[in-house]
Amino acid sequence: MNMVEFQNVSKHFGKTEVLHDISLQVESGEVVVIIGPSGSGKSTLLRCINKLEEISSGTLVVAGMHMTDPHLNECDIRREAGMVFQQFHLFPHLTALENVMFGPLRVRHSSKSDAKRIALELLERVGLSSRADHYPAELSGGQQQRVAIARALAIKPKMMLFDEPTSALDPELRHEVLQVMQSLAEEGMTMVIVTHEIGFARDVASRLIFIDGGTIAEDGSPQKLLSEGQGCERLQTFLRHVS
Ligand code: ADP
Ligand code: MG
Repeated sequence: MNMVEFQNVSKHFGKTEVLHDISLQVESGEVVVIIGPSGSGKSTLLRCINKLEEISSGTLVVAGMHMTDPHLNECDIRREAGMVFQQFHLFPHLTALENVMFGPLRVRHSSKSDAKRIALELLERVGLSSRADHYPAELSGGQQQRVAIARALAIKPKMMLFDEPTSALDPELRHEVLQVMQSLAEEGMTMVIVTHEIGFARDVASRLIFIDGGTIAEDGSPQKLLSEGQGCERLQTFLRHVS
């Protein structure tokens, strides 16, 4: 089943075309890593998937919902596509536990005891049971990002979107976040991940997409595209710059 289906999608901001004629399908269970230069449209593409941005033309269907349907409720789509941002965006006045309980309580309308049980399970899964009662300011960046992942998972989404989840972290804290993402991938979660972590793409992604200037320049197996001398010239130049 296709979880995401872009057909000839373009996106403009004013007169500037940021995504040009994107056609892309993501099937259930795929782990798609998107790489590309700064300003190439990676975040915009990801944000279109959960309707943080509107597409300008073409069709986009996510978890069976047509994004241009005027009756589509944004909450319906955000329940199915959990998002994790570069800057963790936790609620600063809520503890780790309360941050993770937020979705079940407000979005899924769970009871308080169910929300707490779900949140504790997820904090355990991201290795943060012992930090449940800490506020974001009392956590390291890597811990905050793991709470953010648990919070997104608590809504029980069908897919997860990650926009440079480790870019704001010191190198020694990136690993703990990537490990949580890898275990999610191994459990079969459908994931679309914008990242510069080429090693993660090689080891974990089932598919690699290279975006350049708002178009998909490459789409294929990470092992193949990341091998020396493979992929288009622009990809090879890009890889020389990030590695
Ligand atoms: P990336 O994530 O690959 O760095 P983005 O998707 O953030 O790229 O941005 C692609 C282009 O769209 C950039 O030129 C950026 O300046 C522009 N852009 C992004 N968001 C907006 C916006 N809300 N309004 C106007 N231009 C935007
Ligand atoms: Mg971006």
